Amino acid sequence: MQDKQIEKLIKEEKERQKKVINLIASENYVSQDVLDALGSELNNKYAEGYSALRYYGGNEVVDKVENLCKERALKAFHLDPKKWAVNVQPLSGSPANLAVYLALVPLGEKIMGMSLPHGGHLTHGQKVSMTGKCWQPVSYGVAEDTETLDYRALKELAKKEMPKIVVCGYTAYPRVVDFKKMRAVADVAKAYLMVDMSHFAGLVAGEVYPSPFEYADVVTSTTHKTLRGPRAAIIFSKIDDRDLPKKIDKAVFPGLQGGPHLNQIAGVAVALGEAMKPAFKKYAKQVVLNTQALADELSKLGWRIVSGGTDSHLCLVDTWMNGAGIGGKEASDRLEKNGIIVNKNTIPFDARTPVDPSGIRIGMAAETTRGAKEKQARDIARNIDSILRK
Ligand SMILES: *Cc1c(COP(=O)(O)O)cnc(C)c1O
Repeated sequence: MQDKQIEKLIKEEKERQKKVINLIASENYVSQDVLDALGSELNNKYAEGYSALRYYGGNEVVDKVENLCKERALKAFHLDPKKWAVNVQPLSGSPANLAVYLALVPLGEKIMGMSLPHGGHLTHGQKVSMTGKCWQPVSYGVAEDTETLDYRALKELAKKEMPKIVVCGYTAYPRVVDFKKMRAVADVAKAYLMVDMSHFAGLVAGEVYPSPFEYADVVTSTTHKTLRGPRAAIIFSKIDDRDLPKKIDKAVFPGLQGGPHLNQIAGVAVALGEAMKPAFKKYAKQVVLNTQALADELSKLGWRIVSGGTDSHLCLVDTWMNGAGIGGKEASDRLEKNGIIVNKNTIPFDARTPVDPSGIRIGMAAETTRGAKEKQARDIARNIDSILRK
């Protein structure tokens, strides 16, 4: 690299990533192939529009890139191209979700999503996000006793509020979502069901988490979390007489974005290709086993695990335990000083503040990529315990 300053910073970050134990549930380590695609000449091409419908010339190669990516996206999730369409142009998860609302929900209408402190995402209608300013949020949470979804309560809420879209799939929810029941919730309001599988997409591709496609109208996903690809997002939509794919394509471009990032799309294609290999299934399975081992060990050491455990790649640890433990901020700071990176996180019905909440969120997707097995997961748990107790 000619730019020595940036070269040095990249090297420093590479070394930091090697040195730490990374338990951030939304991060992962991508393959060299994904990095090569991102750093390729595809970056130089402008291609506003869609394959064979572009506003610039010179698209014979990038059309093939985008088409291949779409083909692989459908294949990776076992979708029939006659029944499902996919848009691979969203620059990231937040614009993908925004595009869906823009396509399907008239401005000012209601979006029903989980509140942030209970594990929802900003773009599920939080007031600080565009999605909560342009649309009316109808907020739900988990039940206080089980810390899991109460589908009957959700149905009542949907009946009362009549949202236009019901959003499920979260950032800090360790359990599986019952998509069939969520479909019934949406049906009460004759609403669309959108599943945001950003966090667990890799687990769906690896067949260790239920697939939402039987029940959803629209499925959005980032590609950089458990799916282990570049930072980007994809939107799947059902093909029927409602014309969802066309509406979503128009919302992505020209509704929200300009030209697609073709280097990114190539990277997504690479990641999807990898996700279809048998090794990825093994990976996904190991991610869940590792996270369960870590949660189990922490629980044995006396820490309270929200909802009592996990079915996925992440768990929430109540480090505060009503004053018996330490706050989430202190926990995360202490761990970072000892080379373990997590994020502080609210727990359901948190009595503390988001800047210093009661817990931390821990995920094993990144460390599993680096080869961790259950034994390492338990070692990490013991390590965490000794750091937090000191
Ligand atoms: C990460 C995430 C997003 C947003 O992704 P960005 O790429 O950060 O914009 C959206 N929804 C959920 C559920 C997420 O976990």
